[in-house]
Amino acid sequence: MLCPLRAPHHHMIITERLEHIHDRIAAAARRSARNADEITLVAVTKTHAPAIIAEVYAAGVRHIGENRVQEAASKAAELASYDLRWHLIGHLQRNKARRAIELFHCLHSIDNLRLAETLARLLTEHGRPALPVLLQLNISGEQSKEGFNLPGGLENPAFDTFCAEVAHILALPHLQLSGLMTVAPWSENPEQARPIFRNMRSVRDELARRFPQVSWHHLSMGMSDDFAVAIEEGATIVRIGRALFGERA
Ligand SMILES: *Cc1c(COP(=O)(O)O)cnc(C)c1O
Repeated sequence: MLCPLRAPHHHMIITERLEHIHDRIAAAARRSARNADEITLVAVTKTHAPAIIAEVYAAGVRHIGENRVQEAASKAAELASYDLRWHLIGHLQRNKARRAIELFHCLHSIDNLRLAETLARLLTEHGRPALPVLLQLNISGEQSKEGFNLPGGLENPAFDTFCAEVAHILALPHLQLSGLMTVAPWSENPEQARPIFRNMRSVRDELARRFPQVSWHHLSMGMSDDFAVAIEEGATIVRIGRALFGERA
């Protein structure tokens, strides 16, 4: 637990954890013959005070993940002088979409067609240039997971239906579709997540074949317990909270 520690101590521990995470990212990249520079660390700060963001900023972190629009907005206001990129990683309700496009640099959690339509309309009204977005997929089929429902990925009989939805989203203005995101089921053994990550990658590769006009570059996958496996399977963005900041209250 981080909470009982006094500030200087606490600072050191986060910095050490960050170094350790960077080492593990580099090691996983090496194992899969990839360049660690291709992998972006998004520090997930939900539930934590803005001060913690200032700490990791001092250690070089620039990408911050939050799952609630309101919480992110208040932190971003407090940290307005910091050069940060805000990533929305949680489900977005359409009535929060306007706020979201004013704040976030990337939305990882596009999980239905109507949300994409709403965002495109608001971006048009707003006169904002293209906003990078990722499509969130539910590859595991767990009921509790958000995302386009595609258990089994490419093997799912509804894959063509999903592709029709993708084509629809591609036709919308101002959304810069940049790849896919998923949350793997939690397990003691991160190897359990490997098939999910591999599946994501094959869906991505098939989408790239069917829709070559889009850069499907990003695979946002891997969290505190499974990011090394995700990198071995092609993650370009890992979203890490607990391994950096400790357990959430
Ligand atoms: C909370 C959260 C994370 C970070 O999870 P940790 O286990 O704390 O690393 C990553 N992605 C999403 C979508 C989250 O909600």
